[in-house]
Amino acid sequence: MSQTDIGPPDYKTMLPPIIARNYGQWRYHETLQTGVLKHVAESGEELYSVRMGSQRLLSTDTVREICDIADKYCDGHLRFTSRYNVEFLVSDQNQLQPLLEDLKARGRVIGGTGAGITGMVHTQGWIHCHTPATDASGPVKAIMDALADYFTGAKVLPGKVRISLACCLNMCGAVHCSDISVLGMHRLVPVVDHERVKGCEIPTTVASCPTGAIRPDRAKGSVVVNAEKCMYCGNCYTMCPAMPLADPEGDGISIWVGGKVSNSRSGPAFSKLAIPYLPNNPPRWPETVEAVKNIVEVYAAHARKHERVGEWINRVGWEKFFRLTGIPFTDKHIDDYTLASTTFRSSAQFKF
Ligand code: SF4
Ligand code: SF4
Repeated sequence: MSQTDIGPPDYKTMLPPIIARNYGQWRYHETLQTGVLKHVAESGEELYSVRMGSQRLLSTDTVREICDIADKYCDGHLRFTSRYNVEFLVSDQNQLQPLLEDLKARGRVIGGTGAGITGMVHTQGWIHCHTPATDASGPVKAIMDALADYFTGAKVLPGKVRISLACCLNMCGAVHCSDISVLGMHRLVPVVDHERVKGCEIPTTVASCPTGAIRPDRAKGSVVVNAEKCMYCGNCYTMCPAMPLADPEGDGISIWVGGKVSNSRSGPAFSKLAIPYLPNNPPRWPETVEAVKNIVEVYAAHARKHERVGEWINRVGWEKFFRLTGIPFTDKHIDDYTLASTTFRSSAQFKF
């Protein structure tokens, strides 16, 4: 195989030997406990995967700790799931119990499989990005602390619940299609610093606005923002740092529900607005944690087995969803996007 510096290396060079030997020839898997699966190959070989909850932003100390654990029990083999969980891949059955006990002694949680809540997909937040309306790791930690029993399997749900967080509507997270989504919202237009705008490229700044809300101000050699047209996306700030829109009072969190990527039972669906605004309240975001927990608990009490959050809402009706959860229905829930006519419910029937 030729070696280049373009693109990722071939993943097959990093497969654990047992997976390389049995590639594409797995017969079945069974769940031994939440987070622990036994995979059996056509050849009769067995592999155990142990899923451990993990944060997305890892310190070097944590990476070293995870690698040490993998060296001790799994010949150094582990993988990360798309929701940042770590899966230790154990090919020697005798190492399974010692690994589980070691992880428990370290205070690590095991779970995230089956009908429950696995790790939250989330974005950069206040740590890395320039346009967030809320933090990412902070609220995710607070929410998952409150929902840990649904991760470990101590409490089960009717179906899988995927929760995600994006810290602005540019949405590097999966908030457009998750059962429950936490989305940072700006609510104020960018404040133009006319002196500093002179250091930006005016044509690209004007062109960066998806709604055409920015026009040049030739007299000042700057730009003007039409507040009526602005949707607080932050694109202009990406082009021109002299147009910040972050604001302690204006910024906050919205909650969306009912989306999914899966094609089983019903088709993939977009998330829809449930709560338009909650304040940013670090370090533990109590309002957001309570709102997510409430939706999970009401869903747990009313959904049928295997129903996803969106399927449950569509069965009982959105009116009943708002009534059961106690979430107020406001004018903010009415979709007035110009091209939204295909998403409107055009029936005259309401069931409040
Ligand atoms: Fe940045 Fe928005 Fe992505 Fe958050 S969602 S990391 S604020 S672009
Ligand atoms: Fe346009 Fe978005 Fe900037 Fe508002 S925040 S002016 S919509 S680019």
